[in-house]
Amino acid sequence: MNKWECIQISNHKDIGETIAEYQRKGWSLHTYQTAGVEGMNGSVKHYLLFEKEIMVAPANQFHVGNYNCPSCNNIVSPSATKCPNCGKDLEPPVDQ
Ligand SMILES: [Zn+2]
Repeated sequence: MNKWECIQISNHKDIGETIAEYQRKGWSLHTYQTAGVEGMNGSVKHYLLFEKEIMVAPANQFHVGNYNCPSCNNIVSPSATKCPNCGKDLEPPVDQ
């Protein structure tokens, strides 16, 4: 199963750094696209589409109740793959 994430970047100088950052997190760049016209107001936008293959745990390994995001402590549901508050990728804790 693949996960997709589209990033909008307003400054082309950030593109290389953004790609490197995502690759460190296991994403690979799938598509790069620009929209808008490079002009005096710099309104051109850059879009990077990243792809990541994720492992899907069997349903019986998921936690039964809500739990706290390890990054921001926001309450997230056991089926969430991403924290709705801080955007961190989540792997629900396994019940022992
Ligand atoms: Zn969070």
